[in-house]
Amino acid sequence: MINQKPRVRFAPSPTGYLHIGGLRTALYNYLFAKNTGGQFVLRIEDTDRNRFVEGATEQLIDVLKFIGLEDFEGPGNEGDFGPYIQSERLEIYHDHANQLIENGHAYRCFCSQERLLNLREEQQKQKLPQVKYDKHCLYLSDEVKKQKFESGESFVVRLNIRPGIKVIFNDIVRDRVEFDRDTIDDQVLIKSDGFPTYHLANVVDDHLMKITHVIRGEEWLTSTPKHVILYEAFGWELPKFAHLPLLLNPDKSKLSKRQGDVAVEDYLAKGYLKEALINFVALLGWSAGEQKDFYTLNELIQKFTLERVHKAGAVFNVEKLSWLNAEHIRAKSIDELLNYVKQELPNTKYKNGNYPDAYLKSAIESMKERLNFVTDIFEKSFYYFEPPTSYDEAIVAKRWKERSAELLLKLAEAFEMIDEPTKENFEFALHTVAEKNEVGNGQLIHPLRLAISGIGVGPGVYDIVLTIGKDETIRRIKSAVETIKFE
Ligand code: GLU
Repeated sequence: MINQKPRVRFAPSPTGYLHIGGLRTALYNYLFAKNTGGQFVLRIEDTDRNRFVEGATEQLIDVLKFIGLEDFEGPGNEGDFGPYIQSERLEIYHDHANQLIENGHAYRCFCSQERLLNLREEQQKQKLPQVKYDKHCLYLSDEVKKQKFESGESFVVRLNIRPGIKVIFNDIVRDRVEFDRDTIDDQVLIKSDGFPTYHLANVVDDHLMKITHVIRGEEWLTSTPKHVILYEAFGWELPKFAHLPLLLNPDKSKLSKRQGDVAVEDYLAKGYLKEALINFVALLGWSAGEQKDFYTLNELIQKFTLERVHKAGAVFNVEKLSWLNAEHIRAKSIDELLNYVKQELPNTKYKNGNYPDAYLKSAIESMKERLNFVTDIFEKSFYYFEPPTSYDEAIVAKRWKERSAELLLKLAEAFEMIDEPTKENFEFALHTVAEKNEVGNGQLIHPLRLAISGIGVGPGVYDIVLTIGKDETIRRIKSAVETIKFE
């Protein structure tokens, strides 16, 4: 493998949704491939028929593409090593299992479920440190083996793990890793339904697909010695391994569905931007070693190295995700945000309103710094989509003074005279009215904000005036003056 360009893979078992941990694995593989000029492979590991979910593979591919990891070699983007869906490769696994049987590294096991259960109970009773298959079928005579096989008795194929020295391998994240060989059971390689187990299919495919680096979650670390033994049995060169740290809930328990959403789809549906999710997930177990958290996908590609992946579990902190979401909103152009707003508009109660692009852009411009989600614009600044129907009582009590109605009507008159509606002209008009009436600007600004928005917080008042326009501002002033009473 000297000088070979890295080939890495994301090998999910399609479950019906993309787990955040799965996205992290996919992303690190992708970043590593892009950083090194290597190839990112997508392989679908769907050999567990009990967990088969209709349409799950297609959905997974759609999410990966949506999120921006579409540049893969795999289903639909066929390369030289397909098929990339394991259920389409059954013959390959059988050939390889047979090869192992022939050279004594594997054997057929005809034991009934009942025998296996009894064996387990027996071993548990004896308090053996490990419950292991006793190699009963390995020691059957050749004649009995042949007879059972030829009569069509149901069997599984097991790996023949021989006693020996420790299984030792190097992991890029965890350094030297050791496992006692005696603790490893004779793994099933082919199940009685003829499908391979994860271990066999995974190793055979990683080899045949020329995978150079196996980058996957730490939960697979205990499988790796079994894989190492399989590589030995086939006489193949080991890939490099990198096991990524566990993802943890804030209470340090393993990230689970019980404590919140784990599906990438759910986060996207809640309005998190894909850029924010990518950025957030990239930092779950890796850092560039700098004082910053905001990264674009391109920056991540440039900075990513496996050497900087941490060993310690990474805590999933949803507040950080929300913060990053706001940062990524601010990094977007008004035109990009306009697209998002227009996409979301039909899902809001304002769907029948007519809001020209220039109008929406002006609203977005004024709110950009204040949005945690793009959809906040419909709530935080509802007044861009409909005139206020009520006025915040606390603000009325605080800001609506004896002269507010009179002053606002004068302001409306001054606004009426403006030919060129610019922020500066509205501001100048307000200052002039304040001066003539010998009041501070605040005596006009606060009631004006209340009149046009119904609330006391938001972007600069002249931004709101500019967005809704002179005529609408005047209408809202008149309506507020009729409704709000000084008490
Ligand atoms: N199919 C396994 C999974 O669902 C793949 C593990 C690996 O990358 O080896 O994550």
